[in-house]
Amino acid sequence: MAILSLTAASRPGRFLPSFRMPTFNKSLVWFRRDLRLFDHAALYHALRQSRQVYCVFIFDRAILDGLPRRDRRVEFILDSVIELSQELRSKGGRLIVRHADATKEIPALAEQLGVDAVFVNRDYEPHAVSRDAMVADELRGAGRQLLAFKDQVIFETDEVLSQAGKPFSVFTPYKNAWLKKLHLAGDDFFLKAYPVETYCTRLANPPPSVCGDMPALADMGFEKTNLSALGMPTGMSGAETLLREFGSRVNQYHTARDFPAVKGPSYLSVHLRFGTVSIRGLARKAVDAMRLQGCNGSATWLSELIWRDFYFMILYFHPHVAERCFKPEYDAIPWESGEQAQMLFNAWCTGATGYPLVDAAMAQLNETGYMHNRLRMVTASFLIKDLGIDWRSGDRYFAERLNDFDLSANNGGWQWAASSGCDAQPYFRIFNPITQSQKFDAEGKFIRRYLPHLSSLPGKYIHAPWLAPAPVLQQAGLVLGRDYPLPVIQHDAARLATLSRYAVVKKVPIPASDE
Ligand SMILES: Cc1cc2nc3c(=O)[nH]c(=O)nc-3n(C[C@H](O)[C@H](O)[C@H](O)COP(=O)(O)OP(=O)(O)OC[C@H]3O[C@@H](n4cnc5c(N)ncnc54)[C@H](O)[C@@H]3O)c2cc1C
Repeated sequence: MAILSLTAASRPGRFLPSFRMPTFNKSLVWFRRDLRLFDHAALYHALRQSRQVYCVFIFDRAILDGLPRRDRRVEFILDSVIELSQELRSKGGRLIVRHADATKEIPALAEQLGVDAVFVNRDYEPHAVSRDAMVADELRGAGRQLLAFKDQVIFETDEVLSQAGKPFSVFTPYKNAWLKKLHLAGDDFFLKAYPVETYCTRLANPPPSVCGDMPALADMGFEKTNLSALGMPTGMSGAETLLREFGSRVNQYHTARDFPAVKGPSYLSVHLRFGTVSIRGLARKAVDAMRLQGCNGSATWLSELIWRDFYFMILYFHPHVAERCFKPEYDAIPWESGEQAQMLFNAWCTGATGYPLVDAAMAQLNETGYMHNRLRMVTASFLIKDLGIDWRSGDRYFAERLNDFDLSANNGGWQWAASSGCDAQPYFRIFNPITQSQKFDAEGKFIRRYLPHLSSLPGKYIHAPWLAPAPVLQQAGLVLGRDYPLPVIQHDAARLATLSRYAVVKKVPIPASDE
């Protein structure tokens, strides 16, 4: 592979790499999932090493052509690219935007602009790795380089290993080693922002013929979604707003984060996905808050950011997880298939299982593209361990619907729920969708928000409406089977079926209870 992979951030002198990076006359920065103009590794290095720097974003047909025509992510990206373009103009540069196949467009553009090198932030997803390898080969054929930098994570690939030099497969020791590495180097070393602004005068203005216009959604074959109606903040400014809001409640994160009706988490995942916020900036804030306030909320939140690095690392060392179980013996599990399974899967997708918390969660996903973390665990467990359906079907559905879809975190989450992943929950741990609902949405506030037809049901019955006496249902104006489905399965029976389904991997005795 011809990508010059620079892990400048992992060696002494993060801003002055110990080897000599060449200097260039003209360079091109290719923005991908890093749609910001501050603390940006590739942009910083390009500006620092070049006399003139052009910037490009490609709406990559290789990705876009396979998406549904109404996709909030495309709209989120477009809004964020528009903001990026405006910011770049205000700093004297210009964003070239194309709707094309990136593997062809980048080498062609590099030729047209006569650049010596293309700078990118490293992308770890398998399709991105092969795309970048193709681009690097094309560029090299024309005497140009593709320079790739760490930017998306704090520690990448093999930067955090066990004492034996092996990749971790359990989170807690990984997290301890991660924290140790951060603190030993002095937090500033890994978390300091790249001072892009220092060299902004080197941003170049390409000829108008190269720039082209910003494509509209319709130009790319997409329709408008409900993104703006949802009031979802996009771009760098949107991330900043969310971060400011979260700053005032981070102290309560560890106690509030599990309750979907409460504004507990940061809602920054889509911004991390598309890089409108810097992971270094977020980790810096968490570390500072921990130091200043000794705050449990920040420590728990930092842990979540470390989970993110952890799953990136797992995907890097075990790319097979994208298709198969992390633990190979789990590939022998006999999943349900056929018409009945398809019917159950459809009920899950559309939020019609008869279990209100599961259905409300799926409604949240379908209506907004976001799902609360606790509910991702509940719905994933329900699909796998109540309906007996292969985790890959759920993983794919989430991949289509989540605004923040990230192969590594999504796969990690699904394999955790299926017990087939690294450091996953044991296979005999099965969420009870009723007790989860009673525990985490006790008053049914979240359920009522997404399933308004259940709103008149008293709290006592909102978690399992089929247990409500007939007069209660009548009073609530609810006919089960007409206004809201009867449960598609019976949890206790499903739990037993799952325990025998998982017998193929059984290594330890099965405890009697579920959660
Ligand atoms: C089945 C399943 C699928 C998931 N799919 C995704 C996905 O496609 N993309 C995604 O970003 N997260 C995924 N997660 C992890 C988690 O649910 C989301 O990151 C979180 O809900 C996003 O909301 P937030 O930004 O408000 O999170 P916060 O609670 O504010 O957390 C801050 C950030 O930490 C990271 N993070 C938090 N929890 C996890 C985790 N368990 N694993 C990895 N990173 C984490 C995310 O980047 C998140 O934005 C999944 C979890 C499960 C159980």
